[in-house]
Amino acid sequence: VAAESLFATLFPSDCRLCGAALTEVSRLPVCSACVRSIHRITAKTCAVCGELVASAEADAKEVRCGLCQRARMRFAKAVAYGSYDGALRGLIHLLKYDRVRPAADVLGGLLAEAMMGLKFAAGEKAPLVVPVPLASGRERQRGFNQAEEMARAAVRKSSPTLAPKSAARTWGTIAMELNTRALKRTRETQSQTGLTRHQRRANLRGAFVAARPDEIAGREVILVDDVYTTGTTVSECARVLRRAGAAEVYVATAARVLKGEVAAAEEFEAASRAQA
Ligand SMILES: [Zn+2]
Ligand SMILES: [Zn+2]
Repeated sequence: VAAESLFATLFPSDCRLCGAALTEVSRLPVCSACVRSIHRITAKTCAVCGELVASAEADAKEVRCGLCQRARMRFAKAVAYGSYDGALRGLIHLLKYDRVRPAADVLGGLLAEAMMGLKFAAGEKAPLVVPVPLASGRERQRGFNQAEEMARAAVRKSSPTLAPKSAARTWGTIAMELNTRALKRTRETQSQTGLTRHQRRANLRGAFVAARPDEIAGREVILVDDVYTTGTTVSECARVLRRAGAAEVYVATAARVLKGEVAAAEEFEAASRAQA
């Protein structure tokens, strides 16, 4: 395996997303055109969960989607960089299923940019960045937790720019703090595919615990995951964190499944997982 990876480093292969020949030697086997094709969500989105909202509602300053009007989310706000498709989805899959770890660097950069859309209460301490944990068995199998890899890269990239200094916020240079042990997953959950929102919540009950409530108490937390699909997982994590004393919980993901795409995205996900 070592010889193989050395070979791959010395002789660039094809882009793993589009197949174009790579001209430069890079740890990431993805061409720059693919990376450049990843765009930020620019359409009007729900102020809470980031879902697309109809253009008629979009004139209002702060809009909530139908779901957030009916139900209260456990987190204050969820931000995502881009739509879960194309090269962005490809990069996430390279990281998660093909274990191409350098993909976490690009994804972490997108995550850091998405985080800039969050406004914090500007307390004494910088927000705590908490990746959504995997169950220990799954993490051993994969060798790493993709959310943690992305969170680590995002923290590294975002400290100087996250909070622009202003009269109100003078803590701009405080680095965000990564915490990978405060939240634990006690078990891997069954696939959420085809379940109703209610069933999804039941499926997740007890799957997460606050292992270090003392490290969370009074802190603002940014929960990090690779993709926001229906929000049930992050919502359950946020519930656990709030109960453990977190002052507020925000959610940041590299990608978001946008309106009407949940079923298709989950099918695709299940197929990729089966192949991996
Ligand atoms: Zn490419
Ligand atoms: Zn919403």
